[in-house]
Amino acid sequence: MELKVFKFGGASVNSAAGFHNVFRILKRHRGSPVMTVVSALGKTTNALEILLKHYLANDPILLIESYRAIQDVHFNIIHQLFPDETHPVYGEAESLFDQLRGYIRKGHLYDKIKRSYDFEYDQIVSYGELFSSCILSNYLNSKGIACALFDARKLIMTDHTYRDARVNWDKTAGRINSAILPWIAGSVPGSVALTQGFIGSDPSNNTTTLGREGSDYTAAILAYVLKTSEVTIWKDVPGVLNADPKWFKNPKKLPTISYREAIELAYFGASVIHPKTIRPLENAGIKLFVKSFEKPAAAGTLITNIDHWDIKVPIYIRKQNQVLISISPRDFSFIVEENLSQIFTVLAKYRSRANVMQNSAISFSVCLDRNEQVLSDLIEELSLDYEIRYNYNVELFTVRHYTPSAIKRLTKGRSVLLEQKTRHTVHLVVK
Ligand code: ASP
Ligand code: MG
Repeated sequence: MELKVFKFGGASVNSAAGFHNVFRILKRHRGSPVMTVVSALGKTTNALEILLKHYLANDPILLIESYRAIQDVHFNIIHQLFPDETHPVYGEAESLFDQLRGYIRKGHLYDKIKRSYDFEYDQIVSYGELFSSCILSNYLNSKGIACALFDARKLIMTDHTYRDARVNWDKTAGRINSAILPWIAGSVPGSVALTQGFIGSDPSNNTTTLGREGSDYTAAILAYVLKTSEVTIWKDVPGVLNADPKWFKNPKKLPTISYREAIELAYFGASVIHPKTIRPLENAGIKLFVKSFEKPAAAGTLITNIDHWDIKVPIYIRKQNQVLISISPRDFSFIVEENLSQIFTVLAKYRSRANVMQNSAISFSVCLDRNEQVLSDLIEELSLDYEIRYNYNVELFTVRHYTPSAIKRLTKGRSVLLEQKTRHTVHLVVK
């Protein structure tokens, strides 16, 4: 039977019951070998980002507190899944936690060895996936599914753009083919090859990450290289919805959408799929299913090569924690090409993506993610030549296939600081 590629997100492994459910889903697909990608448990990536903050601030008390909290969450689940405390998972997880502790201890003692935020991010935050894959591989084996664990840092070869690493496709294909093809050839039906999502390594063997939600992308890379015909992303929602149920009442599931639509949605910040995921799939015509891990038999959403615009409902995307910056030349001159090029150079330098932008004669406005670390450096640098005004605590709404009532629904009782419309999309920066 043909190889399948599955990706399980953090929400599917945030409890012992979640691990059991992953096992059940894999058992349903006993007929074929499954390449499985797993994310970090629940909110572990966020928790590691907090640990990183304390590490960089060299705050030993908060550092150890955040480390313990992460350790507790993991060992709690391990205890529930493996009542026998002599099971090897205990030693393996312990040793991963020791590695992380060793790393942060060294940086704490010798502050000078710390490198950039992005570099340290990848070295530390990548542990989330190492922990989860250690638990899942042991659990599947203990339940009778033959599971081989492959270290993604030996499969996904990237450059050294830490926190947003670019994949070296040739090297990655070489690695995946030489590791996974022999495994497929020798595997019995129902075996699982497991690897970590989100992480890879650079030519100097440092760990890199592919950007938040990057595990989807890992699954797409594997599917592309291994030439499968489909990928399934198992999520805590029934499929791709027309809005995030966390803030929108009664969202509707979209049964089928085109690759293009999915790219647009991901690009503008819908938390459905990592933005880089779709391109390789589209390129090779690989179908992408987004399905509910709670209702594995339900249809979910199919993302494929369809060419239509008949989406009947507006699709709402909300980005919180935005800042709207308006940039005007200090010498009262107009905004011209030289200014734009200078501004974009600074944005690129700090890897701050312009979520939406607009210019007038004397100012350029741009909506950015509110990342304090990056913003203060960026604003300082631009302030040399420009007067900067900013509006914190704004939100960015993007509506695809908008209608007047969709816009009204979002802007009622709020002030709109910027509005931009194209034929299919409207962006609204609101306060
Ligand atoms: N654990 C990472 C994150 O939460 C990657 C992923 O889940 O896809 O962003
Ligand atoms: Mg995650």
